[in-house]
Amino acid sequence: MFSTQLGLRPVSTTAVSCKICDGPSNLYGVVDMNRPCQTHHAHRAPLSGVPIYYRRCAACGFLFTDAFDDWSVDQFKAHIYNDGYVAVDPDYQVTRPTANAGAVARFWAPHKAGMRVLDFGGGNDVFCASLRASGFQQAVTYDPMVPEHAARPDGKFDLVTCFETLEHVPDPLATIGKIAECVADPGAVFYSTLTQPDDFHAQGMSWWYIGPRNGHISIFTKEALAAAWARYGFKTAALSPGSHLAFRNLPAHWGLTEVQSAAA
Ligand SMILES: [Zn+2]
Repeated sequence: MFSTQLGLRPVSTTAVSCKICDGPSNLYGVVDMNRPCQTHHAHRAPLSGVPIYYRRCAACGFLFTDAFDDWSVDQFKAHIYNDGYVAVDPDYQVTRPTANAGAVARFWAPHKAGMRVLDFGGGNDVFCASLRASGFQQAVTYDPMVPEHAARPDGKFDLVTCFETLEHVPDPLATIGKIAECVADPGAVFYSTLTQPDDFHAQGMSWWYIGPRNGHISIFTKEALAAAWARYGFKTAALSPGSHLAFRNLPAHWGLTEVQSAAA
């Protein structure tokens, strides 16, 4: 299989505009298309022979590839989110959504009876079913990639969750815009995506989170996240290197004044 047969966008040595901030983004590095995220349980598939080039923005540090920018949803399903996907992301179906639901249920327990929650990009309803069972007023799954959950629910939601999704999308600004449309004000987005570590330059393309086989094609920095949310009038604050809260205004009764003032 060659890049052209897969419908990948041909690589160019000319700088392109950053997908987040329009900054100049030159080629940064290259990995094989079958390179998975290097987690302990990943099964390494044979090299595909298809190089995937990533670019890095000189302004905000966003690392991305434009190789998949011409792909349809069906092409992503055929070549990445196919029968082999669960082998490289074994926590996708149950373990991660269950753990995430536990964290959300604990954190928002005092407010859950009056909370409407939308889960964006979760793929299945495991996360929301768990929230409904633990007493949240409403919890709805919305995933444009999954036919059963592809209809956008009406109205605005107090909390929108979005776990391990932004690193998968070829159009992160548009995706963040779709998320922002669903959030009430006051309200918040609790989302996860790992940002580049401080020693990213030392690790370069060997950093474990870069993996086209896992669909990890948009790799943020803290600056890139702040710039992306700012386009929609949101601030974002990191709760850990991988989890974040984005909002225009936080509900006062959540008592998160420290998060509010730490946000950029
Ligand atoms: Zn940028």
